[in-house]
Amino acid sequence: MRIVALTGAGISAESGIPTFRGENGLWKKYRPEELATPEAFFKNPETVWEWYFWRRRIIAKAEPNPAHMALKKLEDNLGNDFWIITQNVDGLHQKAGCKNVVELHGNIWFDRCTSCSYIWEDREIEFKGVPKCPKCSSTARPDVVWFGEAVRNIDRAYELASNADIMLVIGTSAQVYPAALLPIVTKENGGKIIEINLERTQLSYVADEVHLGKAGEILPKIVEKILSERKRIL
Ligand code: NAD
Ligand code: ZN
Repeated sequence: MRIVALTGAGISAESGIPTFRGENGLWKKYRPEELATPEAFFKNPETVWEWYFWRRRIIAKAEPNPAHMALKKLEDNLGNDFWIITQNVDGLHQKAGCKNVVELHGNIWFDRCTSCSYIWEDREIEFKGVPKCPKCSSTARPDVVWFGEAVRNIDRAYELASNADIMLVIGTSAQVYPAALLPIVTKENGGKIIEINLERTQLSYVADEVHLGKAGEILPKIVEKILSERKRIL
């Protein structure tokens, strides 16, 4: 049995990391849509970086919650038949011990040079000015995908989605393409969609199962059910 989990900001909400579409997503008077763009960075790199350091401080304190741990259990049991495709930049799946993680939007703990494209890990959490490239001293940017930029690893994600028997869609509003198409790819290839979210989404109309509630409460139960059914088949 092959399983893929597509995760969004909602899976990390119970770890204390605000989603963008929620009141807690606000920093000072800005909306994330006004900060996570190439235009905003070009106009004011200091402000954008200050916001990223604020987010890093929240993420640095965050621990994986029962939803992340449930996915770790799936990986422990299924090995390479289980993969996570995430839109998150927080690295909490890796902190939970997962290895099979495909990041569509990059990772907040990496910087990239705007001039020579060099990428490096940066664990700094205090804003001390705009980070500079260690190779050429040009301005650095967070190595994440902003609104209007192309997602990463999409070919790998499509391949995983098309081979999955089950696609778990957890805490994502499924509004942003092409990520929102991945569950449809699974379904068109004969797989099943199981959605977990606080509220119904556009995907709910085509999902085989929709579970409304907190991922940290619901996902561990779903994972237990999947694993016991798998044992029965084996
Ligand atoms: P989103 O559009 O995926 O929305 C979050 C979804 O999670 C909503 O549908 C909401 O109903 C659901 N949700 C909230 N709490 C939940 C819970 N406890 N259990 C289950 N579902 C829950 O994501 P967004 O917040 O609009 O962010 C857009 C993009 O910004 C992301 O794709 C990501 O790249 C980035 N982002 C990342 C993080 C992170 O890494 N933790 C956090 C915020 C934003
Ligand atoms: Zn450089």
